[in-house]
Amino acid sequence: MTKITDHIKAANGKPIFSIEVIPPIKGDTLKNLLDNIEPLMEFKPPFIDVTYHREEYIERPLPDGTIQKIVTRKRPGTVGICSAILHRFGVDPVPHVLCGGFSRDETEDFLIDLQYIGIDNVLVLRGDPAKPFSTFKAKENGYSYASELVAQVADMNRGQYLHEEDTAMTPSDFCVGVAAYPEKHFEALDHDIDFHHLKQKIDKGADYIVTQMFFDNQKYFDFVDRCRQADITVPIIPGLKPLATRKQLQILPKLFHLEMPADLIKAVEACENDQQARQVGVEWGIQQCRELIAAGAPVMHFYTMGKADNVMKIAKALF
Ligand code: FAD
Repeated sequence: MTKITDHIKAANGKPIFSIEVIPPIKGDTLKNLLDNIEPLMEFKPPFIDVTYHREEYIERPLPDGTIQKIVTRKRPGTVGICSAILHRFGVDPVPHVLCGGFSRDETEDFLIDLQYIGIDNVLVLRGDPAKPFSTFKAKENGYSYASELVAQVADMNRGQYLHEEDTAMTPSDFCVGVAAYPEKHFEALDHDIDFHHLKQKIDKGADYIVTQMFFDNQKYFDFVDRCRQADITVPIIPGLKPLATRKQLQILPKLFHLEMPADLIKAVEACENDQQARQVGVEWGIQQCRELIAAGAPVMHFYTMGKADNVMKIAKALF
C-alpha cells in the first residue's frame, strides 16, 4: 500500500481526485455503497476515506412502562468496507480512527487489525460526542484529544507498544492524517487556540491534514498561509462537499460550523427546486476546484455523503 503523502509526491503537482464514504446504516447492503462509487473509479482516486461511527445511547420505552437502555452502532463496518475497497477497486482505503468509544488498548488492537489487512493510512480524529450527549467524554483509559492518539500511532511506528517495553516489537508504518477547520473547530474559543492544538497534532507525528468542508476558498487560502507561517509544512487537503439541496444552505452551516458565501446563498435562493439547487452546487464545486487547483492544492477530496452523482459531474469537468 502507498502512503497518502507518497501518492501526493508521485502526482508531482498534478491534482489528485479522492473521496470519503460513509458506512451504510446497519441493515443496508455494502453493494449499494460500492455500486454507487464504482463510476468514480474512472477518475482514478488513489485513496478513499471511510468514516467511523461510534456508539449511540438510546432509551426505548417498553409496554410495562420501564425504559430499556440500548447502546448500539448504527453504521458499523468501517474496517470491512476498507477491506472491500482494497479488494474490489485496488484503491488504498483510509479508515478514520477515533478516540471516542475506544480505550488505548482497544485502539492498539484496532491498529494491529488494520496492519494485518495491509492498511497503512489512517485519519486520526477525536470524534464527536456520543449521541445524544452534547459534550465529548473520553472512555476510561482512552483519549480526550486527537493529538494523544496521534502520539500513540507515532509510538507504534517506533515499535513502542503499550505494555511490551522489554520485548522487541515490529514497528508499524502508518501514514497519519488529522482534521483541521479553516473556519475554526466549534469548541475552540478562538482561531489561535485551535491552531495551537493543530500544531500539537503535527508535532506529535501527523503527516498530512484534511480540512473540514468550506465553500469560500479564501478561508482555505488564509488557513494554508497561516499553517506555512507556523512552519506546518505537511500537505493540506481541502475537503469539499457539493451543495445538493436548498435546505443544505441552512443545515450545513449548523452541522459543520461554517459560513456560506453570499453569492452562493443568492444563487441557491433563486432556485425553484432541489434539482436546480443541485446544479448550482455542481457549478460552484467546479469553480471552487478550478481555483484550488490553480493555487496548487494537492488533492480534491469530496465528501460524498452517500450520493456520488454530483461529485461525478464535478470530476468529469476537471479530471
Ligand atoms: P481534536 O484535534 O482533538 O480537537 C477537538 C477540540 O479540542 C478542538 O476545539 C481543539 O481546539 C481542542 N483541543 C485539542 N487539543 C486540546 C488540548 N490539548 N487541550 C484543550 N483543547 C484541545 N467524526 C467522527 O465521529 N467520525 C469520522 O469518521 C469523522 N471524520 C472526519 C473527517 C474530517 C476530515 C473532519 C474535518 C472531521 C471528521 N469528524 C469525524 C468529526 C470530528 O471527529 C469532530 O470535528 C470532532 O469534534 C473533533 O475532532 P478532531 O480530531 O479535530 O479533534
